[in-house]
Amino acid sequence: MNVKQTLKSFLRPVYYRLPASICYGPLFSPTLKLLEESQHWSEDRLIDYQLSKLRTILRHCAAHVPYYRSLFKTVGFDPAKVRSTSDLKALPLLDKDTIRDRLPEFLAENIGSRRMLYFTTGGTMGKPLGLYNVRHAGGRERAFNYVQWERAGFKQGDRRAMLRGWAVKNPQHWTYDASERAFVFSNFHMTRDNVANYARVMKAKALPFLHSYPSAVIDFARHLQDVGMEPPRFRAILAASENLYPGQREFIESFFGARLFSWYGHTETAILAAECETSNYYHIFPEYGVAEVIKEDGSTAEREGEAGELVGTSLDNFAMPLIRYRTDDWAVVGPEKCACGRNYKLLKDTKGRWRQELLVGRLDNLISNTALNMHGDCFDNVHQLQFYQREKGKVELRIKRKPAYSEQDSKRIVAALNEKMGDTMEISLSFHDEIPLTPRGKFRFVIRELELPRSVKEGSHVETLPR
Ligand SMILES: [Zn+2]
Repeated sequence: MNVKQTLKSFLRPVYYRLPASICYGPLFSPTLKLLEESQHWSEDRLIDYQLSKLRTILRHCAAHVPYYRSLFKTVGFDPAKVRSTSDLKALPLLDKDTIRDRLPEFLAENIGSRRMLYFTTGGTMGKPLGLYNVRHAGGRERAFNYVQWERAGFKQGDRRAMLRGWAVKNPQHWTYDASERAFVFSNFHMTRDNVANYARVMKAKALPFLHSYPSAVIDFARHLQDVGMEPPRFRAILAASENLYPGQREFIESFFGARLFSWYGHTETAILAAECETSNYYHIFPEYGVAEVIKEDGSTAEREGEAGELVGTSLDNFAMPLIRYRTDDWAVVGPEKCACGRNYKLLKDTKGRWRQELLVGRLDNLISNTALNMHGDCFDNVHQLQFYQREKGKVELRIKRKPAYSEQDSKRIVAALNEKMGDTMEISLSFHDEIPLTPRGKFRFVIRELELPRSVKEGSHVETLPR
């Protein structure tokens, strides 16, 4: 460590004791103030606000971003003529491969590299995607997080337990992080002893919130069940960044006796949508981006219950604007209004990276696990499970067993899956002491090392298992 680094690590805890308005950068406080007000705005006012931001970023694209400058010219698109977000439909959808192949063309020429941040997303089929955002974007993101957590009772200054992708390497595997104002517990080290100790610390510190991934909360809960320990009492559990599968919410809420509060977001910062005090609908922030749900036939899903891919346009990333960016995520359109009174558009359900989680049947049929209920009684003696597919028509179910697991459980699981997957999939079981997490600490429910059949890659129908 050089002198500068030593000084930094020494000063860090002191620095983060400063008010949030200072230590989270210049965008934090203005964004929080705006959002606390704008959530009460009328629908017309929100539309006007979103449109004015959209025009600004589109004009910026035309003037300073080579990819869009040439695209707008080719298709004859004029940002000044945009009258509604549906005018975006004149532009093609943008996929990850195009960004990966032509990255420099997406960077704004008038923003120097010192004013940009580089980061990567998980990407598809093991290919991460590199992206840029403006400096201080993190402060804005934090303000959005805070305003959505306020709906679950969070107040600035509240400390929380974090159990999400940080491998704390000291002997007890937890630490206090001053910048997050949170006690961070490692979900890479979830042994029974560690988990029991985590729970004791959370109780002793009376931490009001658990901020986690759904898979990590469940892993934590199952270990506590195994050791017969009462869970810490949280005001709410804040869980996102992974899919929430059927049955998981119910299990988490009943085990902890607390509300699970979820939201949809991604590192690309094009769409953000969160639940509210009164419902589990995802309320899309119009202050953050323009979200579209695009059906398989290319048209826009608008009516309640219609589903499609989430396509987002970021309104704040002037370093690397993403216009009509295909997220590879999937959503179902929600009802017109929520009882909370906010005039935000609603989604009923979202599912991340859904194409990666499709299984390929013997007849090239695609099987979505959307409706597989992982908490039916046949899974009572299963700690964790993961679908692994390398060959079409065959899937291996990897199981981490609980002590009470027996041959009888295997029979019931195979019978239940056979009933749901039909005769196009051969199921085998394998048993594991550990099912590894991704480097980011997430749990993958499906690993498919097999390309989707060419004929069904784009569009085409997908069998959704009956609920
Ligand atoms: Zn609401």
